[in-house]
Amino acid sequence: MKITKVEAIPLRIPELDWTRADGIQDDVIVRVHTDEGITGVGEADSSPHVVKALVDAPESWMRSRGLAGMLVGEDPLHTERLWDKMCEGTLWMGRGGVAVQAIAAVDLALWDIKGKALGLPVHTLLGGARRDTIPVYASMLFEQDLGLMRDTAQRYVAQGYRAVKFGWGPMGQDLATDVRLVREARAAIGDAALLVDAGAPWTLREALRRLDAFQEYAPYWLEEALASDDLSGWARLTAASRGIRIATGEQETLAAAFRDLLEIGHVDVIQPDLARAGGFTQGRRIADLAAASHAMLVPHAWKSGILVAASMHFAATLPDVPFVEYTVAPSPLRRDLVRTDVEVTNGVARIPQQPGLGVDLNEEIVARYRVDG
Ligand SMILES: [Mg+2]
Repeated sequence: MKITKVEAIPLRIPELDWTRADGIQDDVIVRVHTDEGITGVGEADSSPHVVKALVDAPESWMRSRGLAGMLVGEDPLHTERLWDKMCEGTLWMGRGGVAVQAIAAVDLALWDIKGKALGLPVHTLLGGARRDTIPVYASMLFEQDLGLMRDTAQRYVAQGYRAVKFGWGPMGQDLATDVRLVREARAAIGDAALLVDAGAPWTLREALRRLDAFQEYAPYWLEEALASDDLSGWARLTAASRGIRIATGEQETLAAAFRDLLEIGHVDVIQPDLARAGGFTQGRRIADLAAASHAMLVPHAWKSGILVAASMHFAATLPDVPFVEYTVAPSPLRRDLVRTDVEVTNGVARIPQQPGLGVDLNEEIVARYRVDG
């Protein structure tokens, strides 16, 4: 089988509000076509038009090449070799960041092709599912309006979610506000697992103050309390964390960064996003690092049903994963872009069983929201 074409398609809802911390108001999907008629689909959580430029760019020199040019004529089943080829060919504009985010979209599409070609779900190709279902946590924002926040959270708990994440929004302004937000969040969800996502606003000193103040509300984890590359800060925060797990990693794109967070920062939970951190191919390498460090890996995922399905396949194979992020954002790109057999009932998702990723693109939605014409 040979790759015949790689297309990157940016999508965007007309009412996009960039001031909101909601990354599924736009998207970039990548479709990889083959000479056997099998097509794979992936997506990147990144700036859509920048990813498209990385896919379409003409060759500059051997360390600065567009992804499509490197892939056409290649065997799409050679996922590991092609990942390294793409990484090497983008070294001059990459070594992480958006180049690896673009590679992530292509890699997800290649695994989709591999699964369809072999008639197997991706989790089987990754080494085998350890579970048929997995709990998911409802992921929402902290709100200025505490009544609205409480009502929203209680709706999820009533739907059966046993874990709720609150993040960003007004969190980070001052200690009193932050404690009030966490107290209200805990009161709203009762004994469900409370995940607090700071969104990286603090210095180590401020993060340590929050850690002390949040103890009585017993969060399951505190996420992104520091800048991602503050490795000595992570080590000191983790040493002081007592019962609260320290989680981070959604911004990172390279396995080496996760290695440092684990081996120098000693964080409890790493959160690679498959649509940023290089897709399944590098995701497996990162999972091996987590296992070697006896740390937990919980995939970050805030994008369309493509990433939701990909994260379910990946999580199905992980040895130690309590739940997976499940975006409850209302964007039509979240709800309607693909048809998938991922169904959530009582806060538990079914792992997809169709060949490949098990997603079908909704071409009407693609046509309605594509912005590359
Ligand atoms: Mg986060």
